[in-house]
Amino acid sequence: MNSRRAFLEHTLLGAITVGTLDFWNAIAEHTAAPPNGRLPVVIATWDNQKATDAAWQVLAKGGRALDAVEAGARIPEADPMDTSVGYGGFPDRDGNVTLDACIMDEFGKAGSVAFLQHILHPISVARRVMEKTPHVLLVGDGALEFALAEGFKKENLLTETARKAWEEWKIKSEYKPVINIERHDTIGIVAVDDQQRVSGACTTSGMAFKMRGRVGDSPIIGAGMFSDNEVGAAAATGLGEMVLRTLGSFLLVEEMRRGKHPMKAAETVVRRLAQKYPKEARENQVGYVAIDKKGRFGGFSLQPGFNYTVYQQGVNRVFEADSFFKK
Ligand code: ASP
Repeated sequence: MNSRRAFLEHTLLGAITVGTLDFWNAIAEHTAAPPNGRLPVVIATWDNQKATDAAWQVLAKGGRALDAVEAGARIPEADPMDTSVGYGGFPDRDGNVTLDACIMDEFGKAGSVAFLQHILHPISVARRVMEKTPHVLLVGDGALEFALAEGFKKENLLTETARKAWEEWKIKSEYKPVINIERHDTIGIVAVDDQQRVSGACTTSGMAFKMRGRVGDSPIIGAGMFSDNEVGAAAATGLGEMVLRTLGSFLLVEEMRRGKHPMKAAETVVRRLAQKYPKEARENQVGYVAIDKKGRFGGFSLQPGFNYTVYQQGVNRVFEADSFFKK
Protein backbone atom coordinates (compact mmCIF):
# COMPACT_ATOMS: atom_id res chain seq x y z
CA MET A 1 0.00 0.00 0.00
CA ASN A 2 1.49 3.35 -0.88
CA SER A 3 2.04 5.83 1.88
CA ARG A 4 -0.52 8.36 0.66
CA ARG A 5 -3.20 5.75 0.60
CA ALA A 6 -2.18 4.46 4.02
CA PHE A 7 -2.22 7.97 5.40
CA LEU A 8 -5.68 8.68 4.05
CA GLU A 9 -7.01 5.40 5.23
CA HIS A 10 -5.87 6.00 8.76
CA THR A 11 -6.69 9.66 9.06
CA LEU A 12 -9.09 11.53 6.82
CA LEU A 13 -11.19 8.63 5.75
CA GLY A 14 -11.48 6.51 8.79
CA ALA A 15 -15.20 6.15 8.38
CA ILE A 16 -15.10 5.10 4.74
CA THR A 17 -14.43 1.52 3.78
CA VAL A 18 -11.32 1.02 1.65
CA GLY A 19 -12.11 -0.11 -1.86
CA THR A 20 -15.54 1.46 -2.03
CA LEU A 21 -16.45 4.14 -4.50
CA ASP A 22 -16.70 6.63 -1.67
CA PHE A 23 -13.18 5.84 -0.62
CA TRP A 24 -11.74 6.59 -4.06
CA ASN A 25 -13.86 9.65 -4.61
CA ALA A 26 -12.89 10.93 -1.19
CA ILE A 27 -9.22 10.52 -2.07
CA ALA A 28 -9.76 12.74 -5.07
CA GLU A 29 -11.63 15.36 -3.13
CA HIS A 30 -9.51 15.54 0.00
CA THR A 31 -6.03 15.14 -1.35
CA ALA A 32 -4.03 18.27 -1.95
CA ALA A 33 -1.07 16.47 -3.51
CA PRO A 34 -1.11 15.15 -6.14
CA PRO A 35 -3.56 17.66 -7.53
CA ASN A 36 -6.61 15.82 -8.76
CA GLY A 37 -10.09 16.75 -9.85
CA ARG A 38 -9.15 19.98 -11.65
CA LEU A 39 -9.49 21.06 -15.27
CA PRO A 40 -7.84 21.12 -17.65
CA VAL A 41 -5.90 17.90 -17.26
CA VAL A 42 -3.90 15.58 -19.47
CA ILE A 43 -2.53 12.15 -18.61
CA ALA A 44 -0.20 9.92 -20.63
CA THR A 45 1.17 6.42 -20.25
CA TRP A 46 4.77 6.15 -19.01
CA ASP A 47 7.17 9.02 -18.36
CA ASN A 48 6.10 11.17 -21.27
CA GLN A 49 6.64 14.64 -19.81
CA LYS A 50 7.51 16.26 -23.13
CA ALA A 51 4.27 14.95 -24.59
CA THR A 52 2.11 16.14 -21.70
CA ASP A 53 3.94 19.45 -21.85
CA ALA A 54 3.05 19.86 -25.55
CA ALA A 55 -0.55 19.01 -24.70
CA TRP A 56 -0.56 21.45 -21.80
CA GLN A 57 0.59 24.28 -24.08
CA VAL A 58 -2.72 23.81 -25.92
CA LEU A 59 -4.87 23.30 -22.82
CA ALA A 60 -3.42 26.20 -20.84
CA LYS A 61 -4.50 28.60 -23.59
CA GLY A 62 -8.06 27.33 -23.39
CA GLY A 63 -7.50 25.06 -26.40
CA ARG A 64 -9.36 21.95 -27.41
CA ALA A 65 -8.56 18.57 -25.82
CA LEU A 66 -8.39 17.01 -29.28
CA ASP A 67 -5.62 19.40 -30.36
CA ALA A 68 -3.85 18.77 -27.07
CA VAL A 69 -3.75 14.98 -27.37
CA GLU A 70 -2.65 15.15 -31.00
CA ALA A 71 0.14 17.60 -30.12
CA GLY A 72 1.22 15.32 -27.27
CA ALA A 73 1.22 12.15 -29.35
CA ARG A 74 3.35 13.78 -32.05
CA ILE A 75 6.26 14.25 -29.61
CA PRO A 76 7.32 10.60 -29.22
CA GLU A 77 6.35 9.93 -32.84
CA ALA A 78 9.13 12.26 -33.97
CA ASP A 79 11.65 11.21 -31.32
CA PRO A 80 14.27 8.79 -32.71
CA MET A 81 15.22 7.77 -29.16
CA ASP A 82 11.77 6.38 -28.48
CA THR A 83 12.00 2.87 -29.82
CA SER A 84 8.34 1.96 -29.56
CA VAL A 85 6.61 4.88 -31.23
CA GLY A 86 6.96 6.33 -34.74
CA TYR A 87 10.40 7.32 -36.04
CA GLY A 88 13.02 5.13 -34.36
CA GLY A 89 10.47 2.46 -33.45
CA PHE A 90 11.75 -1.09 -33.56
CA PRO A 91 10.66 -2.86 -36.75
CA ASP A 92 8.76 -6.09 -37.26
CA ARG A 93 10.71 -9.31 -37.67
CA ASP A 94 11.25 -8.53 -41.37
CA GLY A 95 12.73 -5.11 -40.68
CA ASN A 96 9.67 -2.95 -41.47
CA VAL A 97 8.56 -0.19 -39.10
CA THR A 98 4.77 -0.44 -39.06
CA LEU A 99 2.65 2.00 -37.11
CA ASP A 100 -0.74 1.97 -35.39
CA ALA A 101 -2.62 4.99 -34.03
CA CYS A 102 -6.08 6.18 -33.10
CA ILE A 103 -7.82 9.34 -31.96
CA MET A 104 -11.28 10.32 -30.67
CA ASP A 105 -12.88 13.73 -30.26
CA GLU A 106 -15.52 15.14 -27.94
CA PHE A 107 -18.32 14.23 -30.33
CA GLY A 108 -17.48 10.52 -30.14
CA LYS A 109 -16.00 10.57 -33.63
CA ALA A 110 -13.01 8.34 -34.17
CA GLY A 111 -10.22 7.75 -36.65
CA SER A 112 -7.43 5.24 -36.80
CA VAL A 113 -4.69 3.77 -38.92
CA ALA A 114 -3.03 0.40 -38.62
CA PHE A 115 -0.10 -1.32 -40.28
CA LEU A 116 0.90 2.04 -41.75
CA GLN A 117 4.46 2.48 -43.00
CA HIS A 118 6.68 5.45 -43.88
CA ILE A 119 4.67 8.23 -42.24
CA LEU A 120 6.17 10.20 -39.38
CA HIS A 121 2.90 11.21 -37.73
CA PRO A 122 0.34 8.40 -37.85
CA ILE A 123 -1.74 10.20 -35.21
CA SER A 124 -2.32 13.08 -37.60
CA VAL A 125 -3.28 10.66 -40.36
CA ALA A 126 -5.76 9.06 -37.93
CA ARG A 127 -7.21 12.50 -37.29
CA ARG A 128 -7.64 13.07 -41.03
CA VAL A 129 -9.38 9.69 -41.33
CA MET A 130 -11.78 10.88 -38.63
CA GLU A 131 -12.33 14.32 -40.11
CA LYS A 132 -12.15 13.72 -43.84
CA THR A 133 -13.50 10.25 -44.54
CA PRO A 134 -16.73 8.41 -43.76
CA HIS A 135 -14.60 5.65 -42.16
CA VAL A 136 -12.97 4.93 -38.83
CA LEU A 137 -10.02 2.67 -39.71
CA LEU A 138 -7.67 2.56 -42.69
CA VAL A 139 -4.88 -0.01 -42.86
CA GLY A 140 -1.67 -0.77 -44.72
CA ASP A 141 -1.27 0.47 -48.29
CA GLY A 142 -4.71 2.08 -48.24
CA ALA A 143 -3.77 4.13 -45.20
CA LEU A 144 -0.46 5.08 -46.85
CA GLU A 145 -2.17 6.15 -50.08
CA PHE A 146 -4.63 8.25 -48.09
CA ALA A 147 -1.79 9.86 -46.12
CA LEU A 148 0.15 10.71 -49.28
CA ALA A 149 -2.98 12.14 -50.90
CA GLU A 150 -3.39 14.31 -47.80
CA GLY A 151 0.11 15.70 -48.28
CA PHE A 152 2.06 13.65 -45.73
CA LYS A 153 5.61 12.81 -46.85
CA LYS A 154 6.93 9.29 -47.38
CA GLU A 155 9.94 8.75 -45.12
CA ASN A 156 12.31 6.08 -43.93
CA LEU A 157 11.52 5.55 -40.23
CA LEU A 158 14.10 2.85 -39.50
CA THR A 159 16.96 4.46 -37.59
CA GLU A 160 20.42 2.99 -37.39
CA THR A 161 19.87 2.10 -33.72
CA ALA A 162 16.64 0.28 -34.49
CA ARG A 163 18.23 -1.51 -37.44
CA LYS A 164 21.11 -2.70 -35.24
CA ALA A 165 18.71 -3.93 -32.56
CA TRP A 166 16.84 -5.86 -35.23
CA GLU A 167 20.10 -7.38 -36.60
CA GLU A 168 20.94 -8.50 -33.07
CA TRP A 169 17.47 -9.89 -32.49
CA LYS A 170 17.74 -11.91 -35.73
CA ILE A 171 20.65 -13.93 -34.34
CA LYS A 172 18.24 -15.80 -32.05
CA SER A 173 14.93 -14.65 -33.56
CA GLU A 174 13.18 -15.25 -30.25
CA TYR A 175 9.90 -13.51 -29.76
CA LYS A 176 9.72 -12.78 -26.06
CA PRO A 177 8.04 -9.63 -24.79
CA VAL A 178 9.90 -8.31 -21.76
CA ILE A 179 8.03 -6.53 -19.00
CA ASN A 180 8.51 -2.75 -18.79
CA ILE A 181 11.34 -2.44 -21.25
CA GLU A 182 11.29 -0.33 -24.32
CA ARG A 183 9.39 -2.90 -26.31
CA HIS A 184 6.29 -1.68 -24.47
CA ASP A 185 6.22 2.05 -24.54
CA THR A 186 3.15 3.06 -26.46
CA ILE A 187 1.86 6.49 -25.67
CA GLY A 188 -1.81 6.68 -24.79
CA ILE A 189 -2.73 10.27 -23.96
CA VAL A 190 -6.14 11.51 -22.86
CA ALA A 191 -7.28 14.98 -21.85
CA VAL A 192 -10.17 17.07 -20.63
CA ASP A 193 -10.03 20.76 -21.50
CA ASP A 194 -11.44 23.66 -19.52
CA GLN A 195 -14.73 23.39 -21.39
CA GLN A 196 -14.99 19.76 -20.26
CA ARG A 197 -14.36 18.42 -23.75
CA VAL A 198 -12.85 14.93 -23.54
CA SER A 199 -10.53 13.43 -26.18
CA GLY A 200 -7.89 10.76 -26.49
CA ALA A 201 -5.08 9.49 -28.71
CA CYS A 202 -2.83 6.48 -28.84
CA THR A 203 0.18 5.81 -31.08
CA THR A 204 2.78 3.06 -31.34
CA SER A 205 5.10 1.06 -33.53
CA GLY A 206 3.66 -1.96 -31.71
CA MET A 207 5.63 -4.80 -30.30
CA ALA A 208 9.21 -5.04 -31.40
CA PHE A 209 9.97 -7.78 -33.92
CA LYS A 210 6.32 -8.75 -34.24
CA MET A 211 5.04 -10.88 -37.13
CA ARG A 212 4.51 -8.90 -40.31
CA GLY A 213 0.94 -7.68 -40.39
CA ARG A 214 0.43 -7.91 -36.63
CA VAL A 215 -1.76 -5.15 -35.28
CA GLY A 216 -2.15 -4.65 -31.55
CA ASP A 217 -4.65 -2.86 -29.37
CA SER A 218 -3.41 0.67 -29.95
CA PRO A 219 -5.37 1.59 -33.12
CA ILE A 220 -8.50 -0.27 -32.06
CA ILE A 221 -11.14 2.03 -30.65
CA GLY A 222 -12.19 0.69 -27.26
CA ALA A 223 -9.05 -1.43 -26.84
CA GLY A 224 -5.99 0.87 -26.91
CA MET A 225 -8.04 3.98 -26.20
CA PHE A 226 -11.61 5.07 -25.67
CA SER A 227 -13.14 8.44 -24.97
CA ASP A 228 -16.72 9.33 -24.15
CA ASN A 229 -17.57 12.95 -23.60
CA GLU A 230 -20.22 12.11 -21.01
CA VAL A 231 -17.77 10.20 -18.84
CA GLY A 232 -14.04 10.44 -19.53
CA ALA A 233 -11.32 8.59 -21.39
CA ALA A 234 -8.83 5.78 -20.95
CA ALA A 235 -5.78 4.38 -22.74
CA ALA A 236 -3.67 1.25 -22.53
CA THR A 237 -0.11 0.11 -22.93
CA GLY A 238 1.52 -3.29 -22.72
CA LEU A 239 0.70 -6.62 -24.30
CA GLY A 240 -1.87 -5.60 -26.89
CA GLU A 241 -3.31 -9.06 -27.29
CA MET A 242 -4.59 -9.04 -23.71
CA VAL A 243 -6.04 -5.56 -24.09
CA LEU A 244 -7.74 -6.51 -27.36
CA ARG A 245 -9.44 -9.55 -25.92
CA THR A 246 -10.99 -7.53 -23.11
CA LEU A 247 -11.60 -4.23 -24.95
CA GLY A 248 -9.87 -2.74 -21.93
CA SER A 249 -10.23 0.99 -22.52
CA PHE A 250 -13.92 0.70 -23.32
CA LEU A 251 -14.45 -1.42 -20.24
CA LEU A 252 -12.60 1.12 -18.12
CA VAL A 253 -14.75 4.01 -19.34
CA GLU A 254 -17.86 1.93 -18.67
CA GLU A 255 -16.65 1.32 -15.10
CA MET A 256 -16.30 5.09 -14.68
CA ARG A 257 -19.78 5.55 -16.16
CA ARG A 258 -21.08 3.34 -13.36
CA GLY A 259 -19.55 5.78 -10.90
CA LYS A 260 -16.05 4.51 -10.22
CA HIS A 261 -13.14 6.81 -9.70
CA PRO A 262 -10.63 6.47 -12.62
CA MET A 263 -8.08 4.86 -10.30
CA LYS A 264 -10.52 2.23 -9.14
CA ALA A 265 -11.90 1.69 -12.65
CA ALA A 266 -8.36 1.04 -13.94
CA GLU A 267 -7.78 -1.43 -11.12
CA THR A 268 -11.02 -3.26 -11.91
CA VAL A 269 -10.01 -3.72 -15.55
CA VAL A 270 -6.55 -4.98 -14.62
CA ARG A 271 -8.08 -7.41 -12.12
CA ARG A 272 -10.29 -8.75 -14.89
CA LEU A 273 -7.14 -9.60 -16.91
CA ALA A 274 -5.49 -11.27 -13.96
CA GLN A 275 -8.58 -13.35 -13.31
CA LYS A 276 -9.28 -14.32 -16.90
CA TYR A 277 -5.72 -14.95 -18.10
CA PRO A 278 -3.77 -15.84 -14.95
CA LYS A 279 -0.69 -17.27 -16.68
CA GLU A 280 -0.37 -14.56 -19.31
CA ALA A 281 -1.08 -11.88 -16.73
CA ARG A 282 1.74 -13.13 -14.53
CA GLU A 283 4.23 -13.02 -17.40
CA ASN A 284 3.29 -9.76 -19.10
CA GLN A 285 2.65 -6.11 -18.46
CA VAL A 286 -0.52 -4.15 -19.15
CA GLY A 287 -1.11 -0.67 -17.79
CA TYR A 288 -4.01 1.76 -18.04
CA VAL A 289 -4.43 5.48 -17.54
CA ALA A 290 -7.79 7.21 -17.17
CA ILE A 291 -9.42 10.54 -16.48
CA ASP A 292 -13.00 11.49 -15.88
CA LYS A 293 -14.88 14.58 -16.90
CA LYS A 294 -14.31 16.16 -13.49
CA GLY A 295 -10.57 15.97 -14.03
CA ARG A 296 -9.90 13.11 -11.64
CA PHE A 297 -7.25 10.68 -12.85
CA GLY A 298 -5.75 7.30 -12.18
CA GLY A 299 -3.48 4.55 -13.44
CA PHE A 300 -3.04 0.90 -12.61
CA SER A 301 -1.03 -1.99 -14.03
CA LEU A 302 -0.53 -5.73 -13.81
CA GLN A 303 3.14 -5.57 -12.89
CA PRO A 304 5.07 -3.05 -10.83
CA GLY A 305 7.13 -0.61 -12.88
CA PHE A 306 4.41 1.16 -14.81
CA ASN A 307 4.30 4.92 -14.47
CA TYR A 308 2.27 7.72 -15.98
CA THR A 309 2.51 11.46 -16.45
CA VAL A 310 -0.12 14.00 -15.45
CA TYR A 311 -0.15 17.71 -16.23
CA GLN A 312 -2.69 19.50 -14.06
CA GLN A 313 -2.81 22.93 -12.39
CA GLY A 314 0.43 23.89 -14.12
CA VAL A 315 2.36 20.93 -12.67
CA ASN A 316 3.81 18.15 -14.84
CA ARG A 317 4.40 15.04 -12.74
CA VAL A 318 5.20 11.37 -13.11
CA PHE A 319 3.42 8.91 -10.82
CA GLU A 320 4.28 5.30 -10.10
CA ALA A 321 1.18 3.22 -10.68
CA ASP A 322 -0.05 0.75 -8.15
CA SER A 323 -0.09 -2.79 -9.54
CA PHE A 324 -1.90 -6.08 -9.19
CA PHE A 325 1.29 -8.08 -8.68
CA LYS A 326 3.67 -6.67 -6.14
CA LYS A 327 7.50 -6.56 -6.29
N1 ASP B 1 0.15 -2.05 -26.73
C1 ASP B 1 1.16 -2.07 -27.75
C2 ASP B 1 0.90 -3.18 -28.71
O1 ASP B 1 0.57 -4.27 -28.26
C3 ASP B 1 2.53 -2.26 -27.22
C4 ASP B 1 2.98 -1.29 -26.21
O2 ASP B 1 2.25 -0.80 -25.37
O3 ASP B 1 4.15 -0.97 -26.26
O4 ASP B 1 1.10 -2.98 -29.89
